[in-house]
Amino acid sequence: MERLKDKIRRCGKIASGNVLKVDSFLNHQMDIRLFEEIGWEFKKRFADVEVNKILTIEASGIGIACMTARYFDVPVVFAKKNKTKNIAGEVYTSQVESFTHGRVYDIMVSKEFLGKGDRILLIDDFLANGKAIEGLVKLVKDSGASLVGAGVVIEKGFQPGGDKLRRQGIRLESLAIVESMDEQTGLIVFRE
Ligand code: 5GP
Repeated sequence: MERLKDKIRRCGKIASGNVLKVDSFLNHQMDIRLFEEIGWEFKKRFADVEVNKILTIEASGIGIACMTARYFDVPVVFAKKNKTKNIAGEVYTSQVESFTHGRVYDIMVSKEFLGKGDRILLIDDFLANGKAIEGLVKLVKDSGASLVGAGVVIEKGFQPGGDKLRRQGIRLESLAIVESMDEQTGLIVFRE
């Protein structure tokens, strides 16, 4: 997706720890025209499969998931980062190791909104080590729903998540794959 890559080149900032900051259009301020194009691109890439629900993770995945859901005409469910422990039994849970904060947190989805018969497309903003997507995959599996695939806006191809998920047979569509980024020069190279 050329417009997305251009935007990353122009507005992305490379921070320490292999973090790409895209706060001006994706993670803080949101460019809704670009979000529309992203949503449409996911729809095109998954046009051949039936999807009845989109699952994402709070907070940064929600905006993208909502724009994507408009084109599939399906609801969005977002996994909550759980704080309360007294809801066991009514929810599916899994654990995610945060790439940006370096700690492990619980995510959960109510059993009311995920279950057998659902055909789930996962959507998230970034893919690094794959922990967030793996956490969502576990929720889908535990619920008995079918996983159709996963769409991420930016995959950092020099980190292991993408290859790991593809090896597991997950259909993964990344709209921009960063092959390398240099904190000193600011140069970002994309996979063709
Ligand atoms: P993973 O679980 O694949 O290691 O990391 C993906 C999650 O960490 C995403 O949901 C995203 O919120 C965050 N993340 C990972 N790498 C980056 C990055 O370079 N920039 C930003 N803004 N978020 C990232």
